[in-house]
Amino acid sequence: MSEDKSTILVTGGAGYIGSHAVLALKNAGYNVIILDNLSYGHREIVEEVLQVELIVGDTSDRALLDQLFTTHNIAAVMHFAAFIAVGESVTDPAKYYRNNVSGTLTLLEAMVAASINKFVFSSTCALYGIPKTVPLVEDHPQDPISPYATSKWMVERILSDFDQAYDLKSVCFRYFNAAGADPTGLLGEDHEPETHLIPLVLFAALGKRESVSIFGTDYPTRDGTCLRDYIHVNDLAQAHVLGLEYLLKGEKSNVFNLGNGSGFSVREVIESAKEVTGKDIKIVERDRRPGDPPVLVGSSDKAKSVLGWNPQYPNINDILTHAWQWHQKRHR
Ligand code: UDP
Repeated sequence: MSEDKSTILVTGGAGYIGSHAVLALKNAGYNVIILDNLSYGHREIVEEVLQVELIVGDTSDRALLDQLFTTHNIAAVMHFAAFIAVGESVTDPAKYYRNNVSGTLTLLEAMVAASINKFVFSSTCALYGIPKTVPLVEDHPQDPISPYATSKWMVERILSDFDQAYDLKSVCFRYFNAAGADPTGLLGEDHEPETHLIPLVLFAALGKRESVSIFGTDYPTRDGTCLRDYIHVNDLAQAHVLGLEYLLKGEKSNVFNLGNGSGFSVREVIESAKEVTGKDIKIVERDRRPGDPPVLVGSSDKAKSVLGWNPQYPNINDILTHAWQWHQKRHR
């Protein structure tokens, strides 16, 4: 099969990171088809901004996948479609294993049947569990502490076995904290319900919330609050294009961390948000949130050296500025 810039199937392309990846793929000259069940994704983003074909459906629908793979010349699949709420995964693990693991298995089996053997996977640094050493590197031991993280870990294991048995080549990207928005303000983060720090801080700046909670002020960190490695969503998207091109060149399966290598505390994020927005942001200090490691910071040296990845927006103020543009526009 010729691997020209024909068509890439992007599952979850109507969601946050997926939609930014679709834009990056389009800008790099690829044709894109989105498969999204719209349980959390946004049809209007696909129709009004991305303007690519949208197939509304589920990764667990084998008949739909078989039909899709036989009627389109698909060179590779990028798989973003997954549930992402760590807390919910603890109370409803079945939902996470059914969708994130079983749905992905169906997708992979359909790919094997259709002889499509290139797969870029949205994984997570959460599969390392509580870090033993930081910055986290790819060969740090894996010990996921939530069903969400375990679901991603299981898919990575399945991919390794599928490579051995069926020659399905994959790139797994273990993201740190995805944040920010496309600088045009046309795409951004829109989760319902929202649980992530940066959008919640910006909602407080917009007056959509009274205050922002700080979950835990007694961690062994420089100001007592958790440190996280925030990575701009467009830098993640760019890495996916590079990961795809790596596979299209015929390279072997691989895993890469994607982060900036520096940690910002919850208090530092709130202080930067005050600067960027020019608004006062009221803080309420609360107890720790279960399952939060004190520090999650990763080394992405491998992605830089193997893929030539070069993040454009490592600065937290740029990340916050772009997120602020998006939220202001959205909640005008
Ligand atoms: N956090 C917080 N208040 C909030 C939401 C999050 O203090 O309203 C903290 C959270 O405990 C963690 C950090 O901010 O230490 C980043 O959390 P987020 O949910 O954004 O991402 P995660 O690290 O869980 O992927």
